Amino acid sequence: MLISSTEFFKNLPPKECAKCGEIIEEMADCYSHECEECEGEIH
Ligand SMILES: [Zn+2]
Repeated sequence: MLISSTEFFKNLPPKECAKCGEIIEEMADCYSHECEECEGEIH
């Protein structure tokens, strides 16, 4: 049985920063795995 894309995305867990674990809100750079603060430290 196929799951509709709407159901699929609804079941995704909130995105967390890979470094500090903070929930990442939708941003322009949606492929980032870290929050803006941590990403700024690395780069
Ligand atoms: Zn972070």
